[in-house]
Amino acid sequence: MHSTASDGTDAPEALAVIAKRAGLAAIALTDHDTTAGLEACAAACKNAGVAFVPGIEVSADPSAVLTSAPQPETEPIRYGTLHILGYFVRHDDPGLEQIQREMTEAREQRNPAIVDKLRKLGMRIEYEEVLEVAREQGASVIGRPHIAQVLIQKGYVKSVQDAFARYIGQGAAAYVRRDRLDPRRAIDAIHGAGGLAVLAHPVQLKCPDLDHLEHFCTKLRDMGLDGMETRHSDHTAAQVARFEQIAQKLGLLTTGGSDYHGSRKSVSMGGQQVPMSVYEALASRVGQPGAAAASVKSRPA
Ligand code: AMP
Ligand code: ZN
Repeated sequence: MHSTASDGTDAPEALAVIAKRAGLAAIALTDHDTTAGLEACAAACKNAGVAFVPGIEVSADPSAVLTSAPQPETEPIRYGTLHILGYFVRHDDPGLEQIQREMTEAREQRNPAIVDKLRKLGMRIEYEEVLEVAREQGASVIGRPHIAQVLIQKGYVKSVQDAFARYIGQGAAAYVRRDRLDPRRAIDAIHGAGGLAVLAHPVQLKCPDLDHLEHFCTKLRDMGLDGMETRHSDHTAAQVARFEQIAQKLGLLTTGGSDYHGSRKSVSMGGQQVPMSVYEALASRVGQPGAAAASVKSRPA
């Protein structure tokens, strides 16, 4: 899930309370490109009696995975989003902090460029207004959802979805590509911080078909990927089943989550029924003490 440290709308401390109320046994905080919310969320989870997985979600460059397409004669594939989750990372690992600095710089270049494009499209929007929205929420990482919020406040769009579809989503009029990390570096940095690297929401990669996805995941596994997020709010039951087959074939762990962003998205916390065995498998892989003793009374998300 995400907190106000990136583009969620609940503070890291609040997530623990909401999780407890929802009957969850374990949660993972995986803010975009930042570990800033982890210490506060860990402390609140301890108070609430919810097991906590300190995480991060790193954006990486999908075009750096396959050096040749499965059918070399075809056009280069236009992928969607490659996000790599790090589970059980040390929040203050210097290597992971270096990655976070680079990602912040990439955002600091891209975000004002998006605002410039919006202005050229005739909208009265200042970058300072985006910074103000992010500041009010205590965000460490500023993203397109904050820009979307300003567009909503000014009446240019009806919703975040509308903002992405019309202006700031991939391929839309004010879209600006951000420099993204080589996936090898993302995986290595997560491992360097003691964590497990997991492919987030594979459906968002927009691979042309499942064979392509399998090929893609094989390459990521060869770079050190540990697992695949098979259960996710964007996946249909049929997709979950197919992704689990691929993960099993490739020897990858399977994980799941709601990808809760607070009021920014319509998914509810705990919306994915993820068995506690998923948490236990991750925790035991990293040698986390107490993993086997974790309660099975309720479910993680
Ligand atoms: P950024 O990190 O600035 O590139 O923005 C990515 C964030 O925008 C992620 O949290 C996504 O969940 C969100 N996002 C991406 N596409 C859409 C969309 N079409 N509608 C709503 N939110 C989106
Ligand atoms: Zn993601």
